[in-house]
Amino acid sequence: MNSVVESTCALTRVREVRAVSALPFDVRHEVEEALSRPAAQQPVWRSAADCRDAVAALSTAPPVVLASEVDDLRARLASVARGEAFLLQGGDCAETFAGNTEAHIRANFTTLVQMAVVLAYGAGTPVVRVGRVAGQYAKPRSSEVDPSGHPSYRGDMVNSASPADRTHDPARMVRAHANSSATMNMLRALAHSPVPVSDAPTGRRYAALVAEVDRALRFMQACGAANDYTRDVYASHEALVLDYERALLRMAGGRLYGLSGHFLWVGERTRQLDGAHIALAALLANPIGLKIGPTTTPESAVEYVQRLDPHGEPGRLTLISRMGHDRIRHVLPPIIEKVTASGHQVVWQCDPMHGNTETSSTGHKTRRFDRVVDEVAGFFEVHRALGTHPGGLHVELTGEDVTECLGGEQDIAEADLGERYLTACDPRLNPRQSMELAFLVAEMLRG
Ligand code: PEP
Ligand code: MN
Repeated sequence: MNSVVESTCALTRVREVRAVSALPFDVRHEVEEALSRPAAQQPVWRSAADCRDAVAALSTAPPVVLASEVDDLRARLASVARGEAFLLQGGDCAETFAGNTEAHIRANFTTLVQMAVVLAYGAGTPVVRVGRVAGQYAKPRSSEVDPSGHPSYRGDMVNSASPADRTHDPARMVRAHANSSATMNMLRALAHSPVPVSDAPTGRRYAALVAEVDRALRFMQACGAANDYTRDVYASHEALVLDYERALLRMAGGRLYGLSGHFLWVGERTRQLDGAHIALAALLANPIGLKIGPTTTPESAVEYVQRLDPHGEPGRLTLISRMGHDRIRHVLPPIIEKVTASGHQVVWQCDPMHGNTETSSTGHKTRRFDRVVDEVAGFFEVHRALGTHPGGLHVELTGEDVTECLGGEQDIAEADLGERYLTACDPRLNPRQSMELAFLVAEMLRG
């Protein structure tokens, strides 16, 4: 055995049954089979023994979320798949331990909720609110090394952002779990406090609409008509680090759940059809997301859907397209047609961020607001033409007033990017840009 294998807890998964020993024999067998498959983007932990300790600690820790909450979300996503609701998912590209403060959680939550209200007003249907939060601590990377030649930062769950220490430390998984649990605790409390849209930072252009939405909300309150959809908020993250995910597997009601979050998605870089990520996701009772990029063919989309939604449950699978503003209008239609013809009812969600990333002349990774809007517009056009439901939006945003994406009403220019460029990974919409997007999407939803 070479030293890489020796030090990779991930590769000792099959023999390391302690973590999954609480699972019934047949389920354990399926999980082990899934995890024995090739897995992209896994940490090479500095010590296999430390990894085993971390996984053992997490295996008996309280989960971040409850199976009953996951079931509630599953029911809501079924209504999205049927065209009766809209899904809004958003938050940081990467959460960080240092940034996991009350102020940050509150700000991101507020922005997400204010967007959701505007979208619900536009759609005239409930909006299901899902944060990229309470577990979004691991990042896939296109390159093993960063531009200065250091091993890449892979998220606080794996290593430090500081170039001085990029060692993959399994103890970070335990910290990620503790942070996620604390975040979830705050979110459950915040979800029950009202967030007025009139407090949102919007330009004059939307003042009339804000007043209209506020009046509608007051009317609803007067009628006692606020419902569950405006109360609950769910947590999601990319199910990337398999040692973390397997440690948070739990049985409930005879089914296997990944209780690291309510909604788990498989990313563009780890969606190999015969790989471990897809195989593990297939076993879970959680609603599952799958990022599909411009290289996805209609045929492969159908294969994913068959694997990830074997029982044909509406909303079980969310296909998150991230094609790029100039490709969505021709790449997405044949995928939608073929998947729809297969009979599976998925949630179609648009991620207008990840296909529109560029490097500015100032060297910042950024995105143009206009292109983000254009990809969403393309998404709506495609669905309108096919008669299918444009089910949701997936964005990277923050409630802090950052300068990471170009444009919007504030007209952030390349020269402004350096002012408050705070992201640990990809550029996020700031609250003004987020609200502007919500208003524009609300108009698209009104048709
Ligand atoms: C992400 O959502 O941050 C991400 C890495 O996306 P993708 O897998 O679509 O590139
Ligand atoms: Mn990202």
